[in-house]
Order: sequence, then C-alpha cells, then structure tokens
Amino acid sequence: MTKVAVNGAAGRMGRTVIETAADRDDVDVVVGFDVEGPDEVQGVPVVDADEAADALAEYDADVAVDFTVPEATLSLAEACREAGVGMVVGTTGFDEDGFAALDDTAEDVPLLKATNFARGVHALLRAIKEALPAVPDYDLELMETHHNGKIDAPSGTAKTMLETVQAERDVEPVYGREGHAPRDEDEIGVFARRAGDIRGEHELIAAGNDEVLSLSHHAEDRSVFAAGALDAAVWTENQDPGRYDFGNVIDQ
Ligand code: NAD
Repeated sequence: MTKVAVNGAAGRMGRTVIETAADRDDVDVVVGFDVEGPDEVQGVPVVDADEAADALAEYDADVAVDFTVPEATLSLAEACREAGVGMVVGTTGFDEDGFAALDDTAEDVPLLKATNFARGVHALLRAIKEALPAVPDYDLELMETHHNGKIDAPSGTAKTMLETVQAERDVEPVYGREGHAPRDEDEIGVFARRAGDIRGEHELIAAGNDEVLSLSHHAEDRSVFAAGALDAAVWTENQDPGRYDFGNVIDQ
C-alpha cells in the first residue's frame, strides 16, 4: 500500500485523485495540502501547504502527487526533499528555471513528471512518432480544447505533442493566426480553445495529397488522469532518486 500525499487537494484534479484512490486498494491518501478550501476532502485531512514538510513526516507519506501551479510544485519539492519523499508531478506550465529546479530535486528523491497521465495520450505520442515519416510533406496543425478554468496555454500535452512532432520534422510553431497570415511550408499552427468543463481534447492533423490524417485523444473524465497519476505514485515509491516520466510506468 503506497501512502500518498496530494498537493492541491481542494482543486479539480486533487479532489479527483482523492476520489479515485478511495476505490483502490494499492494506494491510501493520508494527507492533502492546499492554500484554500475545506479542512478535509472525502475524509482526508487537508493541511496548509506551508506545513507540508512536517506533515509528510507526520503522516508517513511515501509519495506526494501534485496538481497545482508551478510555484506550489516547487515549494512542495523543497518539502519532499527535506522529508525524503518521492514526487509525481502533473502540474503544467513550468518555465526553464522551474524545470531546472525539478531536475535539482530529482538528485535527492525520485521525481516523475508527465504533462498527461492518460494512457491513451501516451499511445497517441507513439502513434505520432510512428506516423509522421509516412507523410513527410503534409501540413501539420495542432489543436487542443480545455475547460474555461485552465490557466496555461497551450496545454502541457500540446507542448509534448509539439516536441514529439519536432523530433521527427523541422517545423516552427505559429500560435494562432490573424489577419494576413499565409501559411509557411515549415510551420505548424497551434490552437488553444477554452470552454465549459471540457476535460481535455488534443488533435494533430496531417493534410496533403487529397487526404487528411487525424490523430486525436479525448479525455472523458478527470479520473483517467487521476488513475494514471496513482499508478505513477505506486511505481515511484520504489525508485531511486532521478527524473522519470509516465513512459517508465507504462513500459515497466
Ligand atoms: P485547479 O485550479 O482546480 O486546482 C489547483 C489547486 O492548487 C487549487 O485547489 C489551489 O488552491 C491549489 N494551490 C494553489 N497554490 C497552492 C500552493 N502554494 N500549495 C498547495 N496548493 C496550492 O487546477 P486543476 O484543474 O486541478 O489543474 C492543476 C494542474 O494540473 C494544472 O497545471 C493542469 O494543467 C494540470 N493537469 C495535469 C494533468 C495531467 O495528466 N498531467 C491533468 C489535468 C490537469
């Protein structure tokens, strides 16, 4: 049984992680952290994030799962380092300094980060890598759609898809188009839509030669991300310090 702490426990994903864990017998959420919201979520005590280092020790957590904002993740990283607790990071929107700080943390504790914990998205990334060599001259465009509360754009998953494309093709992203904006041969349009409570939709199209190839993923519920993050927490508990991604869990 992996004892999990949840950072951002009162948020959309934090709550879903706690709910999803309640139906599993391989994980136990022992404590949550947040800066606002209730003192407990589904019977799990939620303490102030400033007290995370002490609480990790007090509740004997094995792994901390984080779905917050980059500043909160980095502050939790300090606490995890102090307490010797591994991390699973789902938060997106880090800048270069943020990535460097996570690398630093991973020298002392195992740290698994994924922009998307849906297994289908991992399969989508593999499909993109596999498909692109067969359509070398086709125009590529990338679209993502999320709920109206999402802060960062384009989504972390869209960025990961873009990196996957760029590993295969020399294309430059163009973020939206307006006015006189003819398409360059070597560009990839990237579009972010925000509406309602859409969980997460991603699509890459490759068009040319009188055909359109569409590679897409649609998350139906946040529980898909929560389930993947909890699988990652169970896996991370037994790892040495270092940086890992969701591929390590799927390929185990
Ligand atoms: P949300 O706004 O609903 O929840 C974030 C929570 O973090 C809030 O409760 C907020 O109070 C809390 N928080 C803010 N500052 C904090 C701090 N200093 N310490 C502790 N908690 C703090 O957001 P969400 O929809 O749950 O998404 C959170 C993050 O997870 C976003 O970056 C989003 O892109 C990402 N996300 C990743 C995946 C994935 O599969 N990797 C899936 C969904 C969302």
